[in-house]
Amino acid sequence: MKPWLGEAEQAAAAEAVASGWVAQGPRVGAFEHAMAELVGAQHAVALSSCTAALHLALVVLGVGPGDDVVVPSLSFIATANAVRYVGARPVFADVDEQTQNLTVATIESALTPATRAVILVHQAGMPADVEEVHTLCDPRGVHVVEDAACAIGSTIGGALVGTGSDLVAFSFHPRKIITTGEGGMLMTARADLAERLGRLREHGMNVSASKRHELGRPMIEQYLETGFNYRMTDIQAAVGIVQLGRLGEIVERRRELAARYVEGLSDLPGLAFPSDPPFGTTNHQSFWTVLSNDAPVTRDELMAKLGERRIASRRGIMAAHLEPAYAGHVHGALPTTEWLTAHSIILPMFHEMTDDEHARVVTTIRDAMGAAR
Ligand SMILES: *Cc1c(COP(=O)(O)O)cnc(C)c1O
Repeated sequence: MKPWLGEAEQAAAAEAVASGWVAQGPRVGAFEHAMAELVGAQHAVALSSCTAALHLALVVLGVGPGDDVVVPSLSFIATANAVRYVGARPVFADVDEQTQNLTVATIESALTPATRAVILVHQAGMPADVEEVHTLCDPRGVHVVEDAACAIGSTIGGALVGTGSDLVAFSFHPRKIITTGEGGMLMTARADLAERLGRLREHGMNVSASKRHELGRPMIEQYLETGFNYRMTDIQAAVGIVQLGRLGEIVERRRELAARYVEGLSDLPGLAFPSDPPFGTTNHQSFWTVLSNDAPVTRDELMAKLGERRIASRRGIMAAHLEPAYAGHVHGALPTTEWLTAHSIILPMFHEMTDDEHARVVTTIRDAMGAAR
């Protein structure tokens, strides 16, 4: 992945610097407004990262020690870590082999009497079945938080991901679809949650620093609760506003590059590819392929072959429960998670990828698999 950044982003960042207001200020407000408008959310709260967003989501839902939160192990480790930040217990649930997402069945088998929430990840931009998960969770009083770190520009039922649950978290890390360097945002329809989130990101202050400056009269702020410093800067937001304007083009190009990978490789036995679920579309934030047991090369051999031709690839989605940070953490059987993390690879894909570059990847994989070009 390579972010697509241009002169407009450079100019926007420079303008923020020239203004002298570089911390959270008017540009953060404008970025929040633009994001809320785009996805149709009532409120948007910009934060320093999606990890911070997941943390604060659990804080405002009142999740804490003694509570269980169902998460996929097959996710970036921040999903599970957020649960630990609030002193709750991550309960790992398995995923579906085709979508690599949690399903109603895998969530249900991970529920305990202490389950307070589920963090539903749209893995690599692949939309998860939010509606079905709510059908399972809502009657049980289990909150659903969507980890949409990778899913800006993905759709469910024709609408952009972002309004399916009380709290939906996005990331603007350069590895995602659009970037602010680092950054995240929470979308919510609930004014009470938005107000508290705005306070918690800024040390628990009852009025933001930028609002205080706008007042034009002295005002002494109060600190209503123990908050955090999870603010986004105006330099980042300035870049984010420009990036948002590129979203449609970026997603379109990624779907085109994905279709071309499938076209160039789908005759090879032993490789499986992601595809849209019946209810939505993926943005292909990451494009994976899964190697079957009878593929002529292993995943690691394929990565090595690509590497020999100076083509970068990544292992598939990680599994948190296999990391030292979760050694000794009790969990149920996770056969699909363990299969996917060992057998999948993420192929190169970035907006400015040329046709030649793309063809070189396809040819190299065909060679490695012992197939004709
Ligand atoms: C990248 C990612 C995160 C973390 O996002 P940051 O903005 O880097 O904190 C969380 N969850 C998932 C699924 C991710 O892919």
